[in-house]
Amino acid sequence: MTLPAHQPDATPAIAPPKANPASPAGAAPRPYTRGAQLPELLKQRILILDGAMGTMIQRYKLGETEYRGTRFAAFERDVKGNNELLSLTQPQIISEIHEKYLAAGSDIIETNTFGATRVAQGDYRMEDLAAEMNLESARLARAACDKYSTPEQPRFVAGAIGPTPKTASISPDVNDPGARNTSFDELRDTYYEQAKALLDGGVDLFLVETIFDTLNAKAALFALDELFEDSGERLPIMISGTVTDASGRILSGQTVEAFWNSLRHAKPLTFGLNCALGAALMRPYIAELAKLCDCYVSCYPNAGLPNPMSDTGFDETPDVTSALLKEFADAGLVNIAGGCCGTTPEHIAAIAQSLKTVKPRRWPQHYRNAA
Ligand SMILES: [Zn+2]
Repeated sequence: MTLPAHQPDATPAIAPPKANPASPAGAAPRPYTRGAQLPELLKQRILILDGAMGTMIQRYKLGETEYRGTRFAAFERDVKGNNELLSLTQPQIISEIHEKYLAAGSDIIETNTFGATRVAQGDYRMEDLAAEMNLESARLARAACDKYSTPEQPRFVAGAIGPTPKTASISPDVNDPGARNTSFDELRDTYYEQAKALLDGGVDLFLVETIFDTLNAKAALFALDELFEDSGERLPIMISGTVTDASGRILSGQTVEAFWNSLRHAKPLTFGLNCALGAALMRPYIAELAKLCDCYVSCYPNAGLPNPMSDTGFDETPDVTSALLKEFADAGLVNIAGGCCGTTPEHIAAIAQSLKTVKPRRWPQHYRNAA
């Protein structure tokens, strides 16, 4: 058997890196064009994020008819459960939920766009509405924030970018580990479309969240980078992963330290964890990130572990979740706190109240000069 010959002549020449006058290698990133107050505010206090959108939508007990509204009354398939569609068919409900979270004390609210990507909306055959959903959702959140903003407490809209139901690095087929149902390029395109519409709708920052596949997140961050190049804008980015089991790994297999090292090149404003496990089980991983990250740390857990018997699907009451987050804050672990699945405006009000006088986490000593 002969080994294939090494063929240096067949290797394409590697082009020298293109000079980029906007951001020369090693230079500081361009200043933020929106949300520019955020770094300064984060030095002063712990900022409060909102709670779950889905949990609040559940409270309205909407049926198929309400999800459809008049515009989609004759749509070819069922759309109940497509929460992002409500930004088009029941915008008053989405606005009301945003305002409840702002009244509860949220400094930052998330757009109703977790699943508003072409890839995710494909499940409802509504992929062609993805851009419109993002645009309208951003406008709703923008209007709510503008209503509640004061010079003492400015409010910010975070464009929520979810993981999509397809993953770039995990096989959907147990018998074929190499199988994939999406690609980096498809995800990058779908995220670009989402992010551009969010930008056009007036968001102040982006939140790439509930990450369980690092490669999906890389596609989202790549798309944001392209969007910033194309638009001349630069917005703060929050990155938030989800540790799905007690081994302390995200679903695509990384520990939180590996996860941080995979994505820190994006120079996020914040890095942290949300969703699964709930605060109590999330603590060791937040503590690890608090030591590792040369950026601010965010934490917005579920209201404990899921309980199908409970009304919201989760058990923790506002006093429990807020007491857990208060302990995180007292230990100097967090800069932004809020809630994920099962949390409500009552949870957010309790969290805002209990963290009010607690000093924000400071960056680890060896990074401090860069803060
Ligand atoms: Zn969640």
